[in-house]
Amino acid sequence: MIERLFKVLIIGDGTVGKTSFVERYVSNRFRDDYKTTIGVDFALKVLNVNDDETVRLQLWDIGGQERYTSLTRVYYKDASACVIIFDVTTRKTFNSVMKWKNDLDSKVSLKDGSPLPCLLLANKCDLAQHRVVSSHDIQELSQNNGFIGWSEISVKECSNISESMMFLVEEILARNTLTGQPGSVADELTDSTGRITLTPNTSKSSIFCCT
Ligand code: GDP
Ligand code: MG
Repeated sequence: MIERLFKVLIIGDGTVGKTSFVERYVSNRFRDDYKTTIGVDFALKVLNVNDDETVRLQLWDIGGQERYTSLTRVYYKDASACVIIFDVTTRKTFNSVMKWKNDLDSKVSLKDGSPLPCLLLANKCDLAQHRVVSSHDIQELSQNNGFIGWSEISVKECSNISESMMFLVEEILARNTLTGQPGSVADELTDSTGRITLTPNTSKSSIFCCT
């Protein structure tokens, strides 16, 4: 049985739905009354990729105010991938996406020096009448700024959540090709054994639309 552990960052401005996203993805629940996340929350999602391979995603849900502190560098350390979320009903949160992406890229990279694979998620698509950010704007931002893909989601209506994360997991796995015999999780995560080889960046992009 191969078990692999990946740290995935969930970032974006306050109230875009980061905590709701993690709760929906991990526990399939939704509430209207989450408390503001202070610092960072953790959650674990276990995926059975096939009969003999398990992927554990350690999700780091970082409080929206954290970008203004020096703590983000500590939070970002050793991450394998990132999800940046914004709220389609609030342009300010869309304008902040690049601030988060730049903060991320300036503080962390993969072991081969390439940027972390980063997914852009446009949340609250259920609030169509209040929407102020178009699909075109999202696509342009995603393509021009090195995101691996983007997706329109609704955490409330459970739309495109697991599909988006499955795409991200495939991207993570593509960058972490095992060579030789698999050992323990710790063995697999350490670069000194040479067991993990990071494949070069693919410029793949994927679009999932709200249904
Ligand atoms: P965070 O600060 O980014 O962690 O945001 P929260 O997860 O705390 O969510 C902020 C508010 O947005 C809460 O009241 C949620 O119920 C609400 N919310 C989250 N996702 C959605 C969604 O897809 N649609 C709607 N309508 N509301 C959402
Ligand atoms: Mg939160």
